Amino acid sequence: MVEAEVIVIGAGMAGASAAAEMASSAKVLVLEQEDRPGRHATGRSAALYSEIYGNEVIRTLTRASRPALQDQDGRFARARGCFHIASASQIARLEAFAALPDVGRASRWLSGAEARLEAPVLREGYVAAAVAELNAYDLDVDALHQHYLRRLTAAGGEVRCDAPVVRAERIGGGWRVLAGGEEFHARIVVNAAGAWGDVVARAAGVDPVGLQPKRRTAVLVESPEGARSDGWPAVIDIGEQFYFKPDAGRILVSPADETPTEPCDAAPEEIDIAIAIDRVQAAADLPVRRVLSSWAGLRTFTPDRTPAVGFDPAAEGFFWLVGQGGYGIQTAPAMARLAAALALDRGLPADLADMGFDARSVAPGRFSGRAAS
Ligand SMILES: Cc1cc2nc3c(=O)[nH]c(=O)nc-3n(C[C@H](O)[C@H](O)[C@H](O)COP(=O)(O)OP(=O)(O)OC[C@H]3O[C@@H](n4cnc5c(N)ncnc54)[C@H](O)[C@@H]3O)c2cc1C
Repeated sequence: MVEAEVIVIGAGMAGASAAAEMASSAKVLVLEQEDRPGRHATGRSAALYSEIYGNEVIRTLTRASRPALQDQDGRFARARGCFHIASASQIARLEAFAALPDVGRASRWLSGAEARLEAPVLREGYVAAAVAELNAYDLDVDALHQHYLRRLTAAGGEVRCDAPVVRAERIGGGWRVLAGGEEFHARIVVNAAGAWGDVVARAAGVDPVGLQPKRRTAVLVESPEGARSDGWPAVIDIGEQFYFKPDAGRILVSPADETPTEPCDAAPEEIDIAIAIDRVQAAADLPVRRVLSSWAGLRTFTPDRTPAVGFDPAAEGFFWLVGQGGYGIQTAPAMARLAAALALDRGLPADLADMGFDARSVAPGRFSGRAAS
């Protein structure tokens, strides 16, 4: 039997980063069902950091992640403008968005003409106004993920791949975990299984929190000939019907789809690829001769679209780190520190406390009493 203090289930961004943060003071073992870390949501993201995307809890966790992402001589984050745009019929929605205090502080208001000066690809007559972010970045997801995995192993932690957790049970003040034909034992189990978070909970005899994986599609197309697209901002429709962003000389477009799905190895559907191109072309003069590549991944949400981070109130030593939705990369540094602090009883990180963050907003206990469906 292999002994650790903490077993983390899942080696995506959430599991890897939390494990790295815990490894300096605890023996940590990460169990990953795939043959390598990062095969699922983490390896399929749009790699954007937007400080004004998502709900208030997400926005706070994102802001608290910025220092770590700007660290390492800019290896993880490169400045990229980000416009949240509105057509004439969406202006009221954009105004309400800009009126949120933290959004207002982190952005400037642009008229349609001003937005087109910085992003000439936007169609005249479509964009009525934009909220332009002051702090948005392209993230190097792989560099960040590898950084956390290296930190984990440098601190004596270990990642076991090809180790799907099939069962966990509470035994003698700890957890016995069965994975890949082996038996492991730890005081604390961290459920960082992404879309499979509720599946893992059930395998441990713990009530699910009600996670819903939602498929999102991404499509890479050529940049228009002669366009200096690398300087364009990322562009997000305020109604979340589409977004596009420059991506290494090409353009990533998405229909911002959220199709409820079972946990799986998600694949793109032709119809979503067509919708992505159609919606983006309504707002931007982006001729698409061919699709260079496409993929889909699962963004997994709790019922209130806010992550669940903390011990399960009814299962001692069972710690949740799930429900990162579409923000799990940009929030990873702060979420990992938060998870390590809560799991190892270190108290709330000072920067989060200063930002007014309340751990109750992410406590898994808020879903207690839900039908264990
Ligand atoms: C198209 C798309 C675009 C996105 N764009 C952005 C973006 O621009 N910015 C941003 O911040 N976020 C973005 N996201 C969201 C982000 O990718 C996720 O929030 C994040 O990757 C979640 O990380 P995770 O570790 O929780 O999940 P995952 O990366 O899915 O990791 C979970 C891991 O658990 C493992 N696992 C599951 N069950 C078991 C088991 N029984 N035993 C062992 N291992 C198990 C899985 O194999 C997997 O490796 C996007 C997501 C998608 C799909």
